[in-house]
Amino acid sequence: MAYPPKRGVPPPDKLKELAEQYLKELEKGPWPSHVTELRKTGYPLHVYGAGLVVGKSPWAPSAVRTRYLTGTMARIARPWLGLPGEEIHLRVFHTPGRFLKTDWFRKLLDAIREYAIGLLEVVGQTGNMIINITKKEYAEVVADKLRELGTDVGGSADAIRALAACVGPALCEFACYDTLKLWCDLHLDPRVHENIRAPNFHYKFKPKLSGCPFDCARANRGDLGLLGTWKGAPEVDQELLREKVKRGEVDPRELERGCVSGAISWDPVRQELRINEKRCVKCMECIRLAHPAIKPGREKRIAVLLGGNNKGYYGVKLGWFVGYLPPDVSAKRVVDMMEKIWEVWDKYGMPKQRIADVIIYLGIQRFVKEAELDKFLIEMPAFYEKMPDDVPYRILPPEERQVYAEYAKKVKQELGI
Ligand code: SF4
Ligand code: SF4
Repeated sequence: MAYPPKRGVPPPDKLKELAEQYLKELEKGPWPSHVTELRKTGYPLHVYGAGLVVGKSPWAPSAVRTRYLTGTMARIARPWLGLPGEEIHLRVFHTPGRFLKTDWFRKLLDAIREYAIGLLEVVGQTGNMIINITKKEYAEVVADKLRELGTDVGGSADAIRALAACVGPALCEFACYDTLKLWCDLHLDPRVHENIRAPNFHYKFKPKLSGCPFDCARANRGDLGLLGTWKGAPEVDQELLREKVKRGEVDPRELERGCVSGAISWDPVRQELRINEKRCVKCMECIRLAHPAIKPGREKRIAVLLGGNNKGYYGVKLGWFVGYLPPDVSAKRVVDMMEKIWEVWDKYGMPKQRIADVIIYLGIQRFVKEAELDKFLIEMPAFYEKMPDDVPYRILPPEERQVYAEYAKKVKQELGI
């Protein structure tokens, strides 16, 4: 339920006046001002300004009735502000890597000029957002218009959220698999497409595709993260590295120091970099410092992370690593795997519980076993092969618990407690 902020809310007229003062403050200075730009549109800026004054989001959730449509979101100004205001957003499917053809983009802009206030949000991972359609009745009209353009509205509520993929091999040399192709193929599977458009789940399900461990699409925070990586050590072009060292572009000692796992050593006599493949944890630091003399290894694969989220019943979590997929994995295999994950989620989850919340309840080993992930993954950490311990709320596998227990013992010894 909406409640007034601690700071206190001035009477509406005073609040409006103060809001305007705050907004004017944001227009000062030599840099472009988002407030000045928003004034050119019909955006309810007075509500935004009121939020700045009271130090709390001025918006409360609302709803718009649409047939066969998720992806419409409505907000109203919180009643305790005493200032009326509302806005309706449409979430539009975006393109992989955010590549947009100019003529298509123009058509999209024409539609939002006709039915909305002309504002389009193109950042964020939830798809493009058409902001503030001018009449509630337009929600379905705009959705039909968008379908004519070859896109759709969806990705809100308890459904698959917009698939997020990094630009991958289109622009980036680090990509260990084709994130854009897999994104497109996943979208073409009706089981994905329909579950973006229709809310069929307990809560949201976010798949994220990153081409390498730099993780630009934040796969480690997705309910299902597909993160490109490789087997063994990074690939080193010793000749090129020697040249870079000679030119002062790379300091081999810095490479040694920067390696988080101590896998790197530099032989000053032979002028050669050695990497212990067993110790390399794929942190990308040496690649960042010496690319292209050091690159991701040749044998690529996709690490699968399960249950990451920023908003769940039990709070923020990074995904659990459950195994690998081949770099050329088919979308069908990924969606088949997703379906098994959904089955377990559906069986044990309650409304507003994400995958991670069910994992916490069941334990990761039991979740993995019940979802039969071994049928899809090519390699899994050893502990998944053992029978699960079946301890509810035990979130760490035995090996990790052991590591933490030893660490705690060491800390206790150091502190003398
Ligand atoms: S995640 Fe890796 S491959 Fe993808 S854009 Fe970022 S750096 Fe490049
Ligand atoms: S990727 Fe990271 S862990 Fe692996 S060798 Fe390079 S710096 Fe070390």
